[in-house]
Formats: sequence, C-alpha cells, structure tokens
Amino acid sequence: MTIDQFNFAGKKAFVRVDFNVPLDENFNITDDTRMRAAMPTLKKILADGGSLIIGSHLGRPKGVAEKFSLKHILGHLNELLGVEAQFANDCMGEEAAVKAAALQPGEVLLLENLRFYAEEEGKPRGLAEDATDEEKAAAKKAVKESQKEFTKKLASYADCYVNDAFGTAHRAHASTALIAKYFDTNNKMFGYLMEKEVKAVDKVLNDIQRPFTAIMGGSKVSSKIEIIENLLNKVDNLILTGGMTYTFSKAQGGKIGLSICEDDKLDLALNIMKEAKEKGVNLVLATDAKIADSFSNDANTQFCAVNEIPDNWEGLDIGPDSEKAFAEVIKGSKTILWNGPTGVFEFNNFAHGSKSVGEAIVEATKNGAFSLVGGGDSVACVNKFGLAQGVSYVSTGGGALLEAIEGKILPGIAAINE
Ligand code: AMP
Repeated sequence: MTIDQFNFAGKKAFVRVDFNVPLDENFNITDDTRMRAAMPTLKKILADGGSLIIGSHLGRPKGVAEKFSLKHILGHLNELLGVEAQFANDCMGEEAAVKAAALQPGEVLLLENLRFYAEEEGKPRGLAEDATDEEKAAAKKAVKESQKEFTKKLASYADCYVNDAFGTAHRAHASTALIAKYFDTNNKMFGYLMEKEVKAVDKVLNDIQRPFTAIMGGSKVSSKIEIIENLLNKVDNLILTGGMTYTFSKAQGGKIGLSICEDDKLDLALNIMKEAKEKGVNLVLATDAKIADSFSNDANTQFCAVNEIPDNWEGLDIGPDSEKAFAEVIKGSKTILWNGPTGVFEFNNFAHGSKSVGEAIVEATKNGAFSLVGGGDSVACVNKFGLAQGVSYVSTGGGALLEAIEGKILPGIAAINE
C-alpha cells in the first residue's frame, strides 16, 4: 500500500516519526528539520479525515527522564500542524489507550517517548556491570518477551501503521519494524519522507544510470570498509578521499608526516586497490594535499604531493590538482553518491576541497545526473556551502543510509514490504 493510495477518512493511524530533534538547556528546539520533514505525511492523514497517534523517540534515555520528554516539542508540533495535539504522559497504560480510543477525525495524540521503555529497543537495561553471561542472556530473553506485549499494545491503538522514520529504519525496534506485523499489507505503508528515501537509495543501488561515481570521504577506512566493498561491485568510479587518503598513501610507501592514518589497515588499502583493478573500477585517490603544521584552522599551510608530506605536517584537505581530477570524474557522471568530506571541512581553511566536490556534483546534477548526498557529515557539508538545493536528494538518515548502501536490508523497510 502507498500513502497516496490510502484514504485515512475515519481511520486512526499510528505514525512512527523521527522527532529526535536537538534541544537546548531550556528545552527549545534548535533545529526542527526532522519535525518539518514529517509534516507532509501527518497533514495528508489529517486532510483525509483521519486521526493521528504519533510515536517517536527523543535522545537516548535509559528509563523515564524529564529531559527526554516529548512534551517539550508539543508546542512546536501544534504550530507546525495547526492543530492542538493531546499528549499521553506514558506511551503505555490506561491514559494512552483511552485517549487513543477517543480520538475523532482530525485529532492528534502525541505519545510520550517510546524509549522510556526498554521494550522499544528490546535491549535490557540496568544490568550490573559484573553481570554474568547467563544473567545477560536471561535479561535479554525477558525484555524480548515483554517487547511482544509492548508492541501489541502500541498496535492496538490504531487501524493502520505508517512508518516515516527513515533515521531509525536500520533498527528492528518495536515501533519501527516489529509493530508492522500487526497490520496487513493493505494497512501499513511508508510515509512520504520514508518513500522518498527508499526511492533515492534504490536509484543509486538498483536503477543505476552510468557512469556511476561514489565519493567516500571522512576520517577512517575502517568505518567505511563495508560500504567500499559493496560499492566496488556497483560503481564505475570510486573516489576515496578525506583522512583515508593517507592510509592509502602510506600503504604505497608514501611519506605522510603526522597525517591521520590507520597503520593496521595498510594491507586493507592495498587490497581495495587490487580489487578495484580486478573489477574494472576506476579508483581515484588524491595526488596532492593541503597540509598544515598543526590541527587548527589558523595553522600555516602549503600544498604538496600526498606521498611527500614533511615530518610534523599533516594533510587536512586535498590540493588543487586533486580537486580538478575529482571534478572531472564527477562532471562526467550520471549517478553520484557522496558521503564524507575531502578534509577537515569544519575549519574554513580546509573546506575548499569539499566545497569543490559539492559544486561539481551540483553541476553534474544540472546536466541530468541523479545525485544522492547523505550520511554523517555530508549533510552538514552541503548545508555549510548552501548546495543542498542543487543536488537531487539529501538523505535525512545517517546510519540508516550507510547501512542501506552497505547492501543491508533495513528492518524498517522490510517490515512494510513483506
Ligand atoms: P566520518 O565521520 O568518518 O565521515 O568523518 C568525518 C570527519 O572526518 C570530519 O569531521 C572531518 O573533519 C574528518 N576528516 C576529514 N579529512 C580529514 C583529515 N585529512 N584529517 C583529519 N580528519 C579528517
């Protein structure tokens, strides 16, 4: 079922959203992007004449904690929806059930933080540090068992289930995946945000227009290895950049000074190079770097080859030759995936490489390429340079997007599809 096909008139919809927004010390929302992202789904349900039961997590509570109460965001939800939502102080218990049962078309009920219950994540809490393996296993079994009741209860509030929380789609939690079992195929669906994310990921993984170029940056090879392995089977060009550059340079005998490097991943780097060759993938690495004499925006800088970095200097961004080479590959591409900066983009003096990659992607997109940007710092990167409008899709899901690119099945997606 798709949300557009579904008529919510007279129906109660349990909508799992990601309202995990950052709050300041006075509980003011400092960035409401995630809330706004869910509005098209929530408004469509209300416009149809349905009612909303909204479930979300906020932060990482280890039990009930005022600090993580979703009541802090109720006022802003009302503003965005233009409706006075009710609040249930507990997502379980009488109050939530009674309020959900009494909901009339056009009405909204926001449930308290689902993660106040260990059952949401299905992970035991409060285990003693010296707990034995048996105790851990027993606690896990207990929480898994009570998770069934928890999930069933959430499902009992509603006639249909909508998942619009892509950010947690890689977790098999009660409200993101397990709950879907209690609704038949005709009564469960993705929300608009989730639908867009799923389509964007599908386009870069399954509906590829070639050439396909992936740009993977960031600090470490080790955290990206599964993605790199999966992409080697799919891309025509693989640009590996950021801090990874220096592990590759050292592996080939280069001098990298104080640059970030994973000494235990040198063989891995060489293997990736070999594998790329065998698979006919054009692996593109930086040839020059902007180096600094300290890890600071105000450091002295110069450009040099990535394999000739003087002692006591470190590479904090790519140099102009690499920018040019990367841009050429990017501009010749029809499908582009970007995850991770080319350097320490948080320092303005080392942001130029990342900006130039972003600009090349925008140009390729203008010329008809499909470009997906996401995961961790990449979103901050395109926002910093004001380039978000110029790419095809900026994903809201960090970990979820990365796991999807690794080729993993995301439980939140599978639960709707099966
Ligand atoms: P990741 O979380 O792995 O995507 O890495 C993103 C982080 O990598 C950013 O905070 C960058 O500042 C950092 N980074 C990128 N290039 C370098 C570099 N050459 N040296 C140190 N850190 C880097």
